[in-house]
Amino acid sequence: MEKQDIKSLFLEELEEQLAALNQPKFRAKQIFSWLHEKQVTSFEDMTNLPAALRQSLKQQYYIAAAQIARRLQSQLDGTVKYLFRFNDGNCVEAVLMKYKYGNSLCISTQVGCRMGCKFCASTLGGLVRSLTASEMLEEIYAATRDSGQRVSNVVLMGIGEPLDNYDNVLRFLKLLSMPGGYQLSLRHLSLSTCGVVDKIYQLAQEDLGLTLSISLHAPNNEIRSQTMPVNQRWNVEELVEACRAYFAKTGRRISFEYALIEGVNDEPCHARELAQRLRGMPAHVNLIPVNPVKERGFTRGPRKKIEAFQAQLEKLGVNATIRRELGADINAACGQLRREQAQEEERRC
Ligand code: SAH
Repeated sequence: MEKQDIKSLFLEELEEQLAALNQPKFRAKQIFSWLHEKQVTSFEDMTNLPAALRQSLKQQYYIAAAQIARRLQSQLDGTVKYLFRFNDGNCVEAVLMKYKYGNSLCISTQVGCRMGCKFCASTLGGLVRSLTASEMLEEIYAATRDSGQRVSNVVLMGIGEPLDNYDNVLRFLKLLSMPGGYQLSLRHLSLSTCGVVDKIYQLAQEDLGLTLSISLHAPNNEIRSQTMPVNQRWNVEELVEACRAYFAKTGRRISFEYALIEGVNDEPCHARELAQRLRGMPAHVNLIPVNPVKERGFTRGPRKKIEAFQAQLEKLGVNATIRRELGADINAACGQLRREQAQEEERRC
């Protein structure tokens, strides 16, 4: 019999399954608390359970765990980059950033990605598999265990496309925020998508209170279709329309990510076009000097050009900031560490 993933179960599901094992209801609460509040990774650690119950849990279930395969800490700002290894050997990255207001963790939602954005390292080897809810939780729990500090903000901006793993991501969000668990308010969580439009409409109906971040990266279809294949399925007009609908339903201001690539999307005419697109929408534009990926060949323009782009957007009434770069000395942008590790392991074989 294949073992079941106990950490992906809601409390009610655990209660039902324990009832089938003739266990009282309070046992489910105890187990849930061990898994999500105390974040243990073995049944042996659940010391207030009878030994016989621990034994039968072990036969029926497994606990998803993330081992730290590599850990890089920035000498500049304390940012920590983790390479986590899951039970089946697959690895993903997460980045812990320390801000004045608390600790923010950027997590992965898939092993690899199939969206094919031309500037992104995470998509180079395609999609291997999606992460389970428990594995996404475990990225947060493992960072908490390692740092000894609570994670106060979470961003789904690591490897993978969260809306391409919709059901598991939704289960993860509910588990992360529910009473008796880690209890992270989804007001402190951002979900970033390259623009899977049908799922944006679905997400708007869930009433979760999270911040939606859209990886726009281009002001028109001509550029966007060249750099982001998803645009051939849903174009900029359809994407912006979905964003307007999302705001109308949730009242949450949308954040747009815009990676500035020299000579591709960073000219004054692009800033004008972008401002026109977003007119009348409560939005915030996050400008990111593109992170060079050696296989990709894109470069960033000079700082002055990036600042001019921001100033122009502001002048046209669009709220825009340039993302502060943390962990510059440990190459903190996602996707690159996992690739390095995979290439190293290949060489060793
Ligand atoms: N799939 C999701 C989330 C993961 S990517 C998404 O597309 O939003 C997280 C963010 O990093 C996205 O905005 C993505 O477009 C951006 N990104 C990817 N490669 C980058 C690079 N080389 N430089 C700057 N930003 C990059």
